Amino acid sequence: MNLKKLIRDVPGFPKPEIVFKDITTLTKDPIGLAATVDAIADRYADADIDLVVGIEARGFIFGGAIAYKMGLGFVPARKPGKLPAETVRAEYELEYGTDAIEMHKDAIEPGQKILIVDDLLATGGTAAAAAELVEMLGGEVTAIAFLVDLTFLKGRDKLPGYEVFSLVDYDSE
Ligand code: AMP
Repeated sequence: MNLKKLIRDVPGFPKPEIVFKDITTLTKDPIGLAATVDAIADRYADADIDLVVGIEARGFIFGGAIAYKMGLGFVPARKPGKLPAETVRAEYELEYGTDAIEMHKDAIEPGQKILIVDDLLATGGTAAAAAELVEMLGGEVTAIAFLVDLTFLKGRDKLPGYEVFSLVDYDSE
């Protein structure tokens, strides 16, 4: 299954210099969606994982389905101010300024083994912040899985020591 063929390039979104990898053309395709979910869920089927954490927003699409397929629960990591109960927060650098993500304080029990899922690895800041949140709550990051890795941005360098997995790599824009 060639998943790359199902991902659409949208040059100039959301800024002129960005080529946005639009995964909605993959998720609307039943075979593309199933192949993505199955590939990640099957890779970790025999791993010691207790919970899936998905990163807002596109990480929810895959993370929820992967958790269901693995017979596990799902926890969202969300943009600030979205979660209703007590939260922990991790900040990360953007090109200009900082951003943050949050998780509920009681989302993870100490010692639980976590699979983090997002659609795309770019500079790695978002995934590193998600891993930090998991560890702040006493969880252990077993792996971080993506549909896409923009390898030319070297996001894996921000995730040293973690098992990082991607289904589709782009080595240039
Ligand atoms: P980063 O923190 O730089 O690794 O950015 C990762 C997050 O930003 C992911 O949640 C992606 O959905 C989104 N993102 C960053 N760059 C792109 C891109 N070129 N195309 C699509 N999504 C992107």
